[in-house]
Amino acid sequence: MTTCQEALQLILERALPLPPRLTPLAEALGLVAAEAVLASAPVPPFTNSAMDGFALRAQDSAGAAPDHPVRLPVAGEIPAGRQSSVTLGAGEAYRIMTGAAVPEGADSIVPVEEALAAPGWITLAAPVRRGAHVRLAGEDIRAGGLVVPMGVTLRPAELGVLAAIGRAGLAVHPRPRVAVITTGNELVDTGQVPGPGQIRDANIHSLAAQVRAAGGLPVCFARVPDRREAVQATLAEALAGADVVLTNGGISVGDFDCIKDVLETLGARQVFWRLAQKPGGPLGLWLLEGKLVFGIPGNPVAAMLMFEEYVRPALRRMMGFTRLHRPERMGVLEVPWQKRADGRLNFLRVIARDVDGRLRVALTGPQGSGLLSSMMLANALALIPPDTLAVPAGGDILLHLIDEPEDH
Ligand code: AMP
Ligand code: MG
Repeated sequence: MTTCQEALQLILERALPLPPRLTPLAEALGLVAAEAVLASAPVPPFTNSAMDGFALRAQDSAGAAPDHPVRLPVAGEIPAGRQSSVTLGAGEAYRIMTGAAVPEGADSIVPVEEALAAPGWITLAAPVRRGAHVRLAGEDIRAGGLVVPMGVTLRPAELGVLAAIGRAGLAVHPRPRVAVITTGNELVDTGQVPGPGQIRDANIHSLAAQVRAAGGLPVCFARVPDRREAVQATLAEALAGADVVLTNGGISVGDFDCIKDVLETLGARQVFWRLAQKPGGPLGLWLLEGKLVFGIPGNPVAAMLMFEEYVRPALRRMMGFTRLHRPERMGVLEVPWQKRADGRLNFLRVIARDVDGRLRVALTGPQGSGLLSSMMLANALALIPPDTLAVPAGGDILLHLIDEPEDH
């Protein structure tokens, strides 16, 4: 059986960053820049006023004091949004608005609150510092400067800066389209009342939401019956429109588990099937038409866990992220835990809380792989190595902090 580390490596080697795509700014939030963007023009593009006030030459205010005020005539008004063609003469002031171009000849702005204004005149009781409240062309971003390096994750500020330099879009690694196929004759829609032997399809929602939370675009194909033809037709349709396919259920060794057979009939190449882990042992990965097809077991906890540990890092890598993994920390288990020797890595759902800088770890409760509510309570997964048969109360355990952003 493949080990968990081997599986992750096999996955990540094949989950390559998607080819860059030119994307409008409005759709680029959270994506990774696939080009280095240089400013083609300075920001601000022209020297302008940072205040509503008066433009003047600082030297004309020299010596101003409360008992020796300086009076300057106001030669006109410069609103924002217009090209200024005026030139300020010696000993003059211009009324100017925030963001308006500073006229030729002026070197300073005195805010309206600091000038005693009368019709046609201002009076200054203090000298104005040269350059005061003037925003110089290019002082924010100089023309030709590197604005967004390649590989940066685009946050609101990056998008604002890109807009300011006139970039309506940029090359990013796109969101992977991820087909999610749930299978099982027993499944009904969440809006239906299950008949005898039926259950609601929970996984289509948890998995699709996990895809979205990882940054991908889910494409849902829900409740495919356990029939080869039905599975085959859905897989073909899914492959046509997706970068990654997730099948859910039908991957184990039950009599109706046909996913593996169908994939092989379609010519898929098996990368691995079955991992030395619990839950999620039947997990498999295939390559078909150059796309990753994950066969994810149907048990609701296993499904979410497998997505978290294996699919999410793959999707992040396809999106160009270099931090693929949740923070790993050591914690102290509060209760004893033990198992029979099974040669498998065990994932426990746990609640980790910081007590004086140490993570104290409690189980969410019983650890059955059908107990989906345990995933609601967990903020971490504890990884118990295959050869560890017991952890005493107070023993150290390795954690993946699944509510925290990836840090490595
Ligand atoms: P399977 O992997 O198909 O053998 O399914 C394992 C268990 O998970 C069975 O009890 C299924 O009924 C259950 N299961 C499979 N798919 C889903 C689903 N989409 N939503 C909820 N439970 C499921
Ligand atoms: Mg099934």
